[in-house]
Amino acid sequence: MTQPVETHEECCRVATTTCPCPACGNNGRKVKPVTLDNHIPNPMREEIGEDATFCLNPDCEVVYCNPQGKTVKRGQTKLPVTIKDLDDDILVCYCFEHKRGDLRRDIKEKGKTDIPDQIRKGVQEGRCDCERKNPQGACCLGNVAGSIKQIQEELDNPIFGKDINSA
Ligand SMILES: [Zn+2]
Repeated sequence: MTQPVETHEECCRVATTTCPCPACGNNGRKVKPVTLDNHIPNPMREEIGEDATFCLNPDCEVVYCNPQGKTVKRGQTKLPVTIKDLDDDILVCYCFEHKRGDLRRDIKEKGKTDIPDQIRKGVQEGRCDCERKNPQGACCLGNVAGSIKQIQEELDNPIFGKDINSA
């Protein structure tokens, strides 16, 4: 369960970049124009240009930034972004539309979830479209694993989690 937040899958491997986030200084991961097209409304989409990166720091409110220091922040994208928003209502898999709450329900009811297997199967069958659908522009499996770990930790330590009454 100690997978890093970012797991590159063969279906959507993209280059990392060294352009740091102007807000937190972390290096982002380069995203393709098709990702930006689908997740940034105009006129911000035009302002950020074609060379932009996704900030992988969950604590940073910047979602996209470019080498000129232009940013698109949490709340400015068309959809909420998995690692930037911890609500149960947020998608953890954009291709097959699984929400964080779906993971939580499975784990609470069954102690485990087969959602990662469902996603893997979809990826193998070529039905994923992460570059276009996921604001991160890459496969969601790393985020899904991270969310599962977080939910399990919350359920194991109800005092620290949101589920204080139902754990
Ligand atoms: Zn940042």
